[in-house]
Amino acid sequence: MKKAVIGVVPLYDDEKESVWMIPGYLDCIEEAGGLPIILPFTTDKDEIEQAFEMCDGLLFTGGHDVSPRFYSGNKELCGKPCEIRDEMEKRLFSLALKADKPSFGICRGIQLFNVLLGGTLYEDIPSQLKSELIHKQKPPYDIPSHEAELIENSPLYDIIKQKTISVNSYHHQGIRKLAPALKIAAKASDGLIEGVYMPDRRFILAVQWHPEFNYKSDGNSMKLIEKFVKAAKGEA
Ligand code: MN
Repeated sequence: MKKAVIGVVPLYDDEKESVWMIPGYLDCIEEAGGLPIILPFTTDKDEIEQAFEMCDGLLFTGGHDVSPRFYSGNKELCGKPCEIRDEMEKRLFSLALKADKPSFGICRGIQLFNVLLGGTLYEDIPSQLKSELIHKQKPPYDIPSHEAELIENSPLYDIIKQKTISVNSYHHQGIRKLAPALKIAAKASDGLIEGVYMPDRRFILAVQWHPEFNYKSDGNSMKLIEKFVKAAKGEA
């Protein structure tokens, strides 16, 4: 039986001027029965479209702060953007929306979905959000940093079936104003949105935490990846 092909957005290392990947992003998909492929690092419209057609689902990975030009954000507070990723993922996400192709966003992924749909971000959580929680934990990243409340009747709650879960947390930015097309699926006790989805779609879902770091030890993370791969396969 053919596996669902999941296109994984590559990471970029500015210092080494090099494309790279955290193995967990690929391994968790394989573990869930999918076939991960790393997408080309390009802004070429035709190449992006062809690569998109090869995939049954898309994984929008973590990485650089999303360019503040997408939401008229304060660029002084943002890290250096990765223009190629911004452009490439903008095209990919727009294709995914048009085709209703299952798309899972992790960390930068949730921020990207939100700004591309018209929302805004906290450009710098430590200076802009009063919170007792640690949103940028130190390694190891497979241990929990704070809790997240799952919203009933959201797909996250349907998948995990718990009101509160523990999540790891390694992010500099977060959702400030939610995009109109998105709904909240999870939030932290300080009010920060930690999970979103698009209603009436097969699987357009994103989380602020990092299941790729703890899918081996955290059953909830694995359930999430499995559901994504199933959706990509057309089974959910
Ligand atoms: Mn967090």
